[in-house]
Amino acid sequence: MPDITIDRAAPVYDVAVIGSGAAGLAAAVFAALDGAKVLVVERTDHVGGTSALSGGTVWAPMTRTGATVNGGDSRADVSAFLDSAVGNFGDKAMREAFLDAAPEAIATLEDRTKVAFRPCPKHPDYEWDHPHPTLNGRAIEPVPYDTRAMGKLRELVRPPIAEFTVLGGMNIDRIDIGHLLNRYKSPASFLHVAKLVARYMHDRARYGRHARLVMGAALIGRLIDTAMDLGIDLVRSTSVAALDSDAGEVTGLQLSAGGRTARVAVKGGVILATGGFGRSQAPSPIFSHSSGKEASGSRALPTDGKSWLAKLSFALLATHRDLPDRARQSA
Ligand SMILES: Cc1cc2nc3c(=O)[nH]c(=O)nc-3n(C[C@H](O)[C@H](O)[C@H](O)COP(=O)(O)OP(=O)(O)OC[C@H]3O[C@@H](n4cnc5c(N)ncnc54)[C@H](O)[C@@H]3O)c2cc1C
Repeated sequence: MPDITIDRAAPVYDVAVIGSGAAGLAAAVFAALDGAKVLVVERTDHVGGTSALSGGTVWAPMTRTGATVNGGDSRADVSAFLDSAVGNFGDKAMREAFLDAAPEAIATLEDRTKVAFRPCPKHPDYEWDHPHPTLNGRAIEPVPYDTRAMGKLRELVRPPIAEFTVLGGMNIDRIDIGHLLNRYKSPASFLHVAKLVARYMHDRARYGRHARLVMGAALIGRLIDTAMDLGIDLVRSTSVAALDSDAGEVTGLQLSAGGRTARVAVKGGVILATGGFGRSQAPSPIFSHSSGKEASGSRALPTDGKSWLAKLSFALLATHRDLPDRARQSA
């Protein structure tokens, strides 16, 4: 992932992605896997957004990874569960599209990129009072990632929140916590913890932080490393000052960073992946259930100006015919 300044951006890209969380990086990676020349625009200095701070658990039913702990799940059961849990808060067609695409999308990431998942041995569906919930299999989590081979790009990953670390910055996941709790009861756990702490001390002295990423940060590290392999361009600390459009279609971006500006043409499409709806000040034009009240992610990064977001959303809606009717109506 060439980490470039805006004056080094190419004049033309096939796809531009705004936002470098899991959604944005995954979109960028899938586009690049299809041969597109891709630019990722990130407003902050770090890559990964709220995704890098998160547990990184992905709810993706019917994957082959999930099937290793629960081979008895079925598409009909998942559909019935989602229909009951989501009800009228979302379109059934969108849910079905998600269920159709999720297993193949995860398999593509696992087969063609550095992204790797493992099943959660016990991770019940959050909404248990609906038909056909499962104890495991639908939730998968990123495998920890050793970023030492990434060189300086390792520093791009947004640092973790204190709540997910111990000893002032040692990254731990669910499995590590189990070993930490058992460290004086089990020789295997003691060894696991001893290796973990030794590695953390080493990384801290050498790189200034733990180079072994877990959970959401591992997913972001894996996506950045993949994006690097695929030659995806990244501009950080960069705002989209304006959108260029022609006959109702978005044709390019005007970028602004540190007092400099640049204009790039985008032939294939602009993907809005700026996250943060949970901390937006007003309802989203796309997601009608976004109330403007802060949602689960009190640690989530806020978006910048809502008006900017709405403007871009409207521009995208004008050119995107596949969005649900409700979204087009609200535009
Ligand atoms: C502590 C915590 C734990 C969580 N655990 C889980 C979990 O285990 N599983 C789960 O599914 N969800 C979890 N979540 C929720 C999850 O993290 C978010 O829903 C998810 O990260 C959103 O991803 P995203 O890519 O859409 O946005 P983000 O990851 O927030 O990325 C958006 C990016 O866009 C950038 N950006 C914003 N505006 C602009 C702009 N104008 N121009 C350029 N860039 C811009 C931001 O700086 C950011 O880097 C958790 C949340 C928190 C806070």
